[in-house]
Amino acid sequence: MATNLLDYDLDGLTEYFASIGEKPFRAKQVLRWMHHFGADNFDAMTDIAKSLREKLQNQAEIRVPEMITGQESDDGTRKWLLNVGTNNGVETVFIPEDGRGTLCVSSQVGCALECTFCSTGRQGFNRNLSTAEIIGQLWWANRAMGRDPGGERIISNVVMMGMGEPLANYDNVVRAMRIMLEDNAYNLSRRRVTLSTSGLVPAMDRLRDDLPVALAVSLHAPNDALRDEIVPINKKYPLRELMAACVRYMEKAPRDFVTFEYVMLDGINDTIEHARQLAGLVRDVPCKFNLIPFNPFPNSGYRRSSNDNIRRFRELLQQAGYVVTTRKTRGDDIDAACGQLAGQVEDKTKRQMRRIIEIRS
Ligand code: SAH
Ligand code: SF4
Repeated sequence: MATNLLDYDLDGLTEYFASIGEKPFRAKQVLRWMHHFGADNFDAMTDIAKSLREKLQNQAEIRVPEMITGQESDDGTRKWLLNVGTNNGVETVFIPEDGRGTLCVSSQVGCALECTFCSTGRQGFNRNLSTAEIIGQLWWANRAMGRDPGGERIISNVVMMGMGEPLANYDNVVRAMRIMLEDNAYNLSRRRVTLSTSGLVPAMDRLRDDLPVALAVSLHAPNDALRDEIVPINKKYPLRELMAACVRYMEKAPRDFVTFEYVMLDGINDTIEHARQLAGLVRDVPCKFNLIPFNPFPNSGYRRSSNDNIRRFRELLQQAGYVVTTRKTRGDDIDAACGQLAGQVEDKTKRQMRRIIEIRS
């Protein structure tokens, strides 16, 4: 099969051109055409000699994942389903906000971690996305959203918060994020690219050394007993290790805080006592909190905390000296809110089947 040039960051593309006997500066040119100008064919690359364009046509391609459907919510949120192979689709969400436009990007088809309140987690796992499929989401969304009248791209921020655990697909995600930051491509600053993880400690340390972007950590529980239950990866990397990894990450992070995400589940993790424990747990980590009202999906078994409980929880953390925001629910009329992304996953882990058997027995 022809080499998909969307799989390469600048270093990779430079090596590729060397391997076909071409000058290294071609890499910058081609990267710029593909990502800055959004070209999906070699004919468009007018400052490249025709002979080289023909050579590329014969052995390479620019293969963007195909968009199957697009939907728009009443609040301006948009969601696209991308075809990533037979029976598999992943979702990408654009969220317009005052002064910025954020794209929520998926990293895997499904997710192998089984957080109990997450729709993606329920669906099981098929495979990692390739670099081309990850950066292809930004490519598509930029084509769809375009630029504002001042010539600035509408998409100004990226959050790796779609389907999948980005640090479980480390190499492809880091390569895609390098393309996001590259000035010949999307030219986003490290502060405007946020990676969210459920807490894969060794990979957090790697990221800190390789490409320290803004970091969000899905905390969701203030003690190991509860976190073991709702974010099972906690059994492998318990809270003490996770907090220490956050402190280490801060040494190189582009922002001077970690964002702790905390889903508000009625009667599960939202009491005053939980808030107190939480304030103590994160004492040594420079951080902010982002409370996410639980977004329901069929048969989740959970309810969203009441607004009163969310407010009380927030106030307690604020009194303890923390900055806390409550995430506004966006796009829930098109199932585009946090934790609702389901896409289409041909589950290789047979998780849905296991659940049915568990429920029956
Ligand atoms: N796998 C990564 C990133 C994707 S999820 C992670 O877990 O961090 C983005 C955020 O939405 C995470 O904090 C996740 O825990 C949260 N989330 C998952 N399901 C949710 C739901 N049903 N309602 C609200 N937030 C949810
Ligand atoms: Fe995977 Fe994140 Fe969902 Fe957990 S919350 S199952 S890590 S996508």
